[in-house]
Amino acid sequence: MKLNAAIEVEKIIKRDAGGRGLSDIAPGPDLYKAAEELYGGTGIVIVTGFCIAEALCGETDGPLGAVTLAWALEKLGKRVMLATDGYSKHILDACAEYMELKAERVMLPLEADKAFFTRMLDNFKPSHIVSIERPGKAKDGRYYSMKGTDMTHLIPDSDSIFEAAKQRGIVTIAVGDGGNELGMGKVRDSVVKFLDMGETIAAVSEADHTIISGVSNWGAHGLEAMLSILGSRMLLQDEATEKALIEKMVEAGAVDGCSKRREPTVDGLSLEQNLEILSSLRKLTAECIREKI
Ligand code: CA
Repeated sequence: MKLNAAIEVEKIIKRDAGGRGLSDIAPGPDLYKAAEELYGGTGIVIVTGFCIAEALCGETDGPLGAVTLAWALEKLGKRVMLATDGYSKHILDACAEYMELKAERVMLPLEADKAFFTRMLDNFKPSHIVSIERPGKAKDGRYYSMKGTDMTHLIPDSDSIFEAAKQRGIVTIAVGDGGNELGMGKVRDSVVKFLDMGETIAAVSEADHTIISGVSNWGAHGLEAMLSILGSRMLLQDEATEKALIEKMVEAGAVDGCSKRREPTVDGLSLEQNLEILSSLRKLTAECIREKI
């Protein structure tokens, strides 16, 4: 029954309002499995933040989802660490402070390498790593934007966190919406098939569980919905909180990843479109909790 609920949640988070084309990937068990993993997890590292090269700043997709997922996990008593690079740190900080998170926050230096991530994991000892809208290396070992701009010189090599995690048996979960994000290797064939720049930009690293959504923040909200259903309590933030977080990100300098402008939109989608997804998820989640699904 909970697996069926996960399929319904996936349909909502996959609404392809941005027209990316990855919504054609059929729903699978990954969202359910990822939520079950996190529900049983002890320490979770969430890595996020996608630098927009034209603005030299992070975007509104990623930090919001990372922080609301962290908030839900903390309500379940989990230890959480939030990690991002210098372009998104102030954006993530603004959201984390608004939500009064306890989570430790780490800034990834540009020169971060496998040794850096190994130390980070050995100190925090996570059971799980979740990447949300974090650039992932393409086949040629370089980082690209959706439009194929080479961003390698801007991006700390966070693919190394998955390599270090795999060596330690830490379960990895990836959330993305464009196919060029860390951990999207499992859907690489679809990215190449559905996206014009797919062959160039598709990420190669594979997460244990991969969540595709219309907007990456929504993928994180999908996980929160499933954690709520597993825990029989509402762990999704309300609409007023979502609105405040989007405004906090823009105040902190975040740009919309599509328009490249500082405005309270995500991936070119209005505040109302984002709130509509959250409302649909909250409604479905409340029904599932009420009916003890
Ligand atoms: Ca996005």
